[in-house]
Amino acid sequence: MDKTFCPICGTLTGYGNPEQIDVVCGNHTGDEINAFFNPPTMDSIRRERDKLLKESDWTQLADSPLSNEERLAYTTYRQALRDLPRKVDLSVSKDIKWPKIESVG
Ligand SMILES: [Zn+2]
Repeated sequence: MDKTFCPICGTLTGYGNPEQIDVVCGNHTGDEINAFFNPPTMDSIRRERDKLLKESDWTQLADSPLSNEERLAYTTYRQALRDLPRKVDLSVSKDIKWPKIESVG
């Protein structure tokens, strides 16, 4: 009887279903699974980074409804996004630590 294994960590996921080669065990988050099957490239990272920057452009406008503290949190977050591609080395790790907005208040 054929065994199937989780392609990410090698855990046994079942028996006798050799067509199901991509059965992932229950130990992985959606992000992890997505990164495994669609490994990030510097291009994809920059594209995602640019998208996140664009989505938070409004936070830096003078008439945004944010408090000064909230706006500062976004400023820090956006700087971390700009720095991200310089900090990523895909030959070392494909697990990208995307910056998060620090919660305020
Ligand atoms: Zn697994």
